[in-house]
Amino acid sequence: MSQPLNILVTGGAGFIGSALVRHLVQNTSHNVLNVDALTYAGNLESLASVAESDRYDFVQANICDTAKITEILRSFKPDVVTHLAAESHVDRSIDGPAAFIETNLVGTFSMLSATLNYWRSLDGASKESFRFHHISTDEVFGALGEDGFFTEETAYDPRSPYSASKAGSDHLVRAWHHTYGLPVLITNCSNNYGPFHFPEKLIPLMIIKCLAGENLPVYGAGDNVRDWLYVDDHVRALQAVFEKGKVGDSYMIGGRSERTNIAVVEAICDTLDRLSPKADGRSYRNQITFVSDRPGHDFRYAIDATKLENELGWKPKHSFEDGIGATVQWYLDNRTWWEDIMSGAYQGDRLGLQKTG
Ligand code: NAD
Repeated sequence: MSQPLNILVTGGAGFIGSALVRHLVQNTSHNVLNVDALTYAGNLESLASVAESDRYDFVQANICDTAKITEILRSFKPDVVTHLAAESHVDRSIDGPAAFIETNLVGTFSMLSATLNYWRSLDGASKESFRFHHISTDEVFGALGEDGFFTEETAYDPRSPYSASKAGSDHLVRAWHHTYGLPVLITNCSNNYGPFHFPEKLIPLMIIKCLAGENLPVYGAGDNVRDWLYVDDHVRALQAVFEKGKVGDSYMIGGRSERTNIAVVEAICDTLDRLSPKADGRSYRNQITFVSDRPGHDFRYAIDATKLENELGWKPKHSFEDGIGATVQWYLDNRTWWEDIMSGAYQGDRLGLQKTG
């Protein structure tokens, strides 16, 4: 698939979706249509660098609106649908699971229904080469102990409303392949970080709280382990999968970069001590405080990405250390982007920003 493709990206105004859109417009010849409802997590300012490109377009639509999605598919005629639109924040799923069931489950069902009809209307080579690529998380596999890794064979064992809704969406996508023959691909990725990350998530939240001189709330003893991947490495993996992946298969994506939460927060503090030292010479580490643990907090996630590396030749380009350095520098250089969100200047009130940690 080296010729220009029409790629429909759902959730393209979110953190990973916007990184995918920027990557595709800036580094490939593909045409991109971003379909996003612009919930609290969607921000078109993250796409300012590609907004003027004649290979990029945006339609505001809810993925649960099957009629609208059907119309969009008919007019854009995608070769690939990359489905990222989702409610994505675990803490919010604990406080209000309904939106997660609606968007992640019902919305994925809606995307599958509309896409199946569209795919059935294709013929010849375009029907053969069409792909529906569902973007999912490693959280669907539950928690690991001290050892072991998630692989493509790991059994599903979701524990939070978020991960359960994503697990259900993965099952729907696989069912549409086995039952109706829809040519699907699924990727399950570890925790992402990088520029344009909404400031309710651990890494941007800690950077911003450091700069505001606030406490840095760390759940429990901070010993939960996540496998961190720089977002640009994720989107290169997505491109490799939808261009070269085997229909019906799933692929694990991870950075082989396991860190405890406290190690992540300390790395942010140390990076800021270097890049933006405090006038009084004290370390940002002095702001760290421990708060009671999240209910059902999975202990450890870690990905074995051997299949993706061996079959599709993908490897992460960024170590955790250089990725964190680049991310902290980006938040220092792009205060307007996150200050507008924190103040509610972008798209009205942004609820719940201070409540998570
Ligand atoms: P995000 O919350 O930053 O962005 C989600 C986007 O989806 C937003 O632009 C939002 O407006 C849009 N959206 C939400 N509901 C919608 C609806 N009903 N209709 C249309 N658009 C809607 O999420 P993210 O972190 O970029 O994650 C993107 C995808 O990747 C999700 O499916 C998530 O489960 C998956 N994922 C995320 C991570 C991570 O670390 N962030 C890791 C693995 C997988």
